Amino acid sequence: MSDSVEETPEQAEFRASARAFLADHAEPLSEINPWQVSGFPEDDDARAYFEHGRAWQRTLADQGWAALTWPTEYGGGGHPPWADRILREESEGYGSHPGFVGATIAMLGPTLLAHATDDLKARFLPSLLNAEVAWCQLFSEPGAGSDLASLATRAVLDGDHWIVDGQKVWNSCAQFADWGFLLARTDPEAPKHRGITFLLVDMTSPGIEVRPLVQANGSSHFNEVFLSDVRIPADQVVGEAHGGWGPTRTVLANEAAFIGRGGETPTSDRLRILAARHGGLDDPTIRQRLARIISRERLQALMGQRIQSAVRDGQQPPFDPALTKVLAAGTKVLTGELAADLAGPAAVAGPPSGDPEGTWIRAEVLNRFAVSIGGGTTEVHKNNLAERSLGLPREPGTDPNAAWKDVLRN
Ligand SMILES: Cc1cc2nc3c(=O)[nH]c(=O)nc-3n(C[C@H](O)[C@H](O)[C@H](O)COP(=O)(O)OP(=O)(O)OC[C@H]3O[C@@H](n4cnc5c(N)ncnc54)[C@H](O)[C@@H]3O)c2cc1C
Repeated sequence: MSDSVEETPEQAEFRASARAFLADHAEPLSEINPWQVSGFPEDDDARAYFEHGRAWQRTLADQGWAALTWPTEYGGGGHPPWADRILREESEGYGSHPGFVGATIAMLGPTLLAHATDDLKARFLPSLLNAEVAWCQLFSEPGAGSDLASLATRAVLDGDHWIVDGQKVWNSCAQFADWGFLLARTDPEAPKHRGITFLLVDMTSPGIEVRPLVQANGSSHFNEVFLSDVRIPADQVVGEAHGGWGPTRTVLANEAAFIGRGGETPTSDRLRILAARHGGLDDPTIRQRLARIISRERLQALMGQRIQSAVRDGQQPPFDPALTKVLAAGTKVLTGELAADLAGPAAVAGPPSGDPEGTWIRAEVLNRFAVSIGGGTTEVHKNNLAERSLGLPREPGTDPNAAWKDVLRN
């Protein structure tokens, strides 16, 4: 934890109250198991972890520390963007975080604020913020990941309901979610980006089947979600019918910014514990590597603050959020390598159970792929940066004005 040198009195006062709030309510890393990872083979453990995050989000909301930059009318704090950064800086050294609930708030909150009707905002934002309702993202499909706009899940309007049929995949925590934000093809005659509708769906609706995907470590972070004749009230559309690509881009930009700023938990505090434990704090090369990681984490947080500032003012981000996402993917490689080097052979040769530190290190090494693939792959973000930010020629592709139904797909 370190105070900024040029802090205003208002910022200093905010920092002091954040410090007091955390001291009263958050779990210090020193008092909990700092090596907890989120991959649990047992469903009950995975659900308990998810609910623990939800409970922390509720505490944040109840105590006025949730969505610090959102408008107060929807339960936010109405603070300037630096408030988030300060709370985050003060949170270092604590283990409390909202987990996946925090990711969905970061993705869906700004999207509802920017694109939803006042009725939908009033109906969904407060319960999103206090985690009374937990959400999942129903975007990717077996044939639509990087090229999300080619998605094939169909929705047809029947009176005052959309009838949805299709399959989604890689849906994080969908087995615990109460509601989902879903993309469906509603106009196959339109070009692929223009025939998509953004829908909000109750996950208990008849016709939804959630099948957890079991990973190599036995845990199920992801799911397949099958939708068969699912009825969604027509007023649960965000943005215009067939105009779902606008809100989708808002979700994707905020997802990239969220992952880019390092999610909810910076890694350097654990690395500092590891370095102290393995005698690395006196090694100048280790100190240098640690300093580089801390600098990158701080940089990512500051970039996140600038993006949030623009989003809050209804403006375009000052730079493509993909930039922070690509930076974060690189940082995750550095953190995993440093963690493994600090622990040495124990990082890979520890016993499968009863070795929480080794388990955390192995997860840290493997989680680089969650950061470089989840929320769009590094390759695709680099393509986007090349085209959108550097003005380089577009990738060769199909005619963007061709009807979706006529375009070849996976
Ligand atoms: C941790 C994690 C959480 C996730 N959570 C969710 C979720 O909650 N909801 C959800 O809907 N989805 C989720 N996803 C899915 C994620 O959005 C996709 O995995 C991602 O968009 C990539 O799509 P894909 O897996 O289909 O890979 P593909 O698109 O098939 O890509 C395969 C490979 O080809 C490369 N590639 C593809 N196109 C190009 C190109 N034009 N130029 C260069 N290289 C290219 C990619 O970089 C990649 O290496 C999650 C993924 C991860 C890893």
